[in-house]
Amino acid sequence: MSATDQPLLSVRDLKKHFPIKGGILGRTQAMVQAVDGVSFDVRAGETLGIVGESGCGKSTTAKLLIGLVDRDEGDIELGGKSLGRDISLRALRRDIQMVFQDSYASLNPRMTILDSIAFGARVQGLDDPVGRARRLMARVGLDPDRFAGRYPHELSGGQRQRINIARALVMSPKVVVLDEAVSALDKSVEAQVLNLLSDLRAEFGLTYIFISHDLNVVRYISDRILVMYLGEVVELAPVDMIWAEQAHPYTRSLFSAMPSMDPDNRTQKPPLTGDPPNPIDPPPGCRFHTRCAFAADVCKARHPVLGPMVQGSPHWVACHLHDPASGHPRAGQGVPA
Ligand code: SF4
Repeated sequence: MSATDQPLLSVRDLKKHFPIKGGILGRTQAMVQAVDGVSFDVRAGETLGIVGESGCGKSTTAKLLIGLVDRDEGDIELGGKSLGRDISLRALRRDIQMVFQDSYASLNPRMTILDSIAFGARVQGLDDPVGRARRLMARVGLDPDRFAGRYPHELSGGQRQRINIARALVMSPKVVVLDEAVSALDKSVEAQVLNLLSDLRAEFGLTYIFISHDLNVVRYISDRILVMYLGEVVELAPVDMIWAEQAHPYTRSLFSAMPSMDPDNRTQKPPLTGDPPNPIDPPPGCRFHTRCAFAADVCKARHPVLGPMVQGSPHWVACHLHDPASGHPRAGQGVPA
């Protein structure tokens, strides 16, 4: 995988808390801490996979990145320029595009395929939107002479997702956020679309943020994997490193829940039990302590900070087990088997 070391996208302390309103006056009763202090960098040409349970904040993070949801706090920088200070939301929309899971809901049912793809380029005032749309249709494998005048309901799910990919690329973005973009597809179509995404990344020099609940799919396409739990980043590492060693107990549980067709490869590790805590009132200290087999008193009292496993390592984790100064009785021994 080719990627320079310079971050193209930098996210710092991103926060989004959604109000829950109630009562006859519609007053705010509580706040859901959907994303709470998320930070990461993405290098140009890299694919960052984001995984975690439903409700961990993956999709909200994606929507914050493209400005579909306003952030409460934090900074997003693209190419060294800060969103809101140096670049407008309109400019950001040209540089960061998104492909959603629901291929049908993403398209206007009253617009032809060609118009849907060309729409964004027209709005942004780019040259030759129709020519761009036709070229991209051909590139994603749909003959423009056959498909340009069709409507979304006339296409299969795989064809619609190819159209959504073309629609995202029509403005020549730098970053494409793929939010469960292949999750609703049949396995055979999923493989074709993943290969298409890999080819397009190389051809157009794209940078991907790939969100999925399927670890095998994330492994296939990603350079690094970021794990989220209850609105926070708990682990971040290159794919090979995290596949060889899951440092955070939550990541271990996610991996142990992964189905395997190989009877010799069945895990003996305990799967994750219990439901995630309420994001309105997350547990103090480590948010995972209510479900963690290695929780100690320090885990309930102190919030673990995300940092490298050892000085200079690209493998980062937020867990007292890996911090010798934390006071955890098993600190420095890694995650016990
Ligand atoms: Fe478990 Fe403590 Fe690590 Fe949290 S900090 S994951 S509770 S060992």
